[in-house]
Amino acid sequence: MSTSESENVAFFDMAVAICPQCGIPLVESGWYGIDMESDIGCYGCGENFNFKKHAVDRATLSVTLSKNGKIKRLGVEEKTELE
Ligand SMILES: [Zn+2]
Repeated sequence: MSTSESENVAFFDMAVAICPQCGIPLVESGWYGIDMESDIGCYGCGENFNFKKHAVDRATLSVTLSKNGKIKRLGVEEKTELE
């Protein structure tokens, strides 16, 4: 999975939802927002809403790290179909 001798790659499951009140996009961990069906607070308008009900996309991100764990780059590893 490493792209070179001095890099490591980790993965992060991420999802996007649109706030039903003000329309801004919010990102959450896919596990928290979709699998746990959590309610979240919008940082734009302060409204609480169910993340899964308003989810529009989900993907696994690849996180390229230096050997000592510092974040160097993010990429989209794989798109995940929403139910
Ligand atoms: Zn909002």
